[in-house]
Amino acid sequence: MSEAGSLVVVGLGPGTAEWLTPAAADALARATDLVGYGPYLDRAPMRPHQRRHASDNRVEVERAAMALDLAAQGRHVAVVSGGDPGVFAMAAAVFEALDGGDSRWQAIEITVEPGITAMLAAAARSGAPLGGDFCAMSLSDNLKPWETIVQRLTAALNADFVISLYNPISSARPWQLGEALKLAGTIRSADTPVIFARAVGRPNEAITVTTLDNAHSESADMSTLVMIGASTTRLIPRNNERPYVYTPRFYGGGR
Ligand code: SAH
Repeated sequence: MSEAGSLVVVGLGPGTAEWLTPAAADALARATDLVGYGPYLDRAPMRPHQRRHASDNRVEVERAAMALDLAAQGRHVAVVSGGDPGVFAMAAAVFEALDGGDSRWQAIEITVEPGITAMLAAAARSGAPLGGDFCAMSLSDNLKPWETIVQRLTAALNADFVISLYNPISSARPWQLGEALKLAGTIRSADTPVIFARAVGRPNEAITVTTLDNAHSESADMSTLVMIGASTTRLIPRNNERPYVYTPRFYGGGR
């Protein structure tokens, strides 16, 4: 049997190559095999002799098992994810497959190479909405029950976190974002800033800043991150530009 290879889970950042870290670029260049969703593989520069294993965007744990098998055969495998690979992405699938999986996988060196997650890219484009406490949730009920999402969102809204919603909507999940925004409207005031950050860092980037009473789920698609402000989140109007959004670090009192 050949010596065990390695597996690195690489975050590609939100889109533009400028937001790919040098360490992630090195990891891609060193790999003998790239594994991932086709459109992500397309973002990695082509290298001679490098094998590509494109898959669709589902069956993440099976894809992870396939990557671990390749590494167990001595290959140096890079599994690619958009944004950060640990945020609602492939790194967890790799460890899920490893946990209780094939014993030959134990010898593989597994590392994770971080990337800029969509929430941070969206925040940077908007101003500084994450200046106070915040949380992130996936609105997808493919892997968890909708009741869990409603419970967590209610708790997060009551805790006054800025809330980033990943996976807000898709053709298979058309109504969940509308329900989430409706729920937000029962707990947060109508003038709460809401950001729709679509395809940040890609050529079709589009960022809209609105308020909760004007926020409609039609403004989002699969590549949108939706951010709901906290009670302290503010807008700074600008001429002919969307306003800056920020959440002050200072809460008043206590100083
Ligand atoms: N690992 C990724 C998230 C995967 S979940 C990361 O760290 O960013 C997929 C969701 O991420 C999408 O539905 C969308 O909500 C968000 N997303 C990914 N890339 C994005 C981008 N360039 N702009 C805005 N949102 C993005």
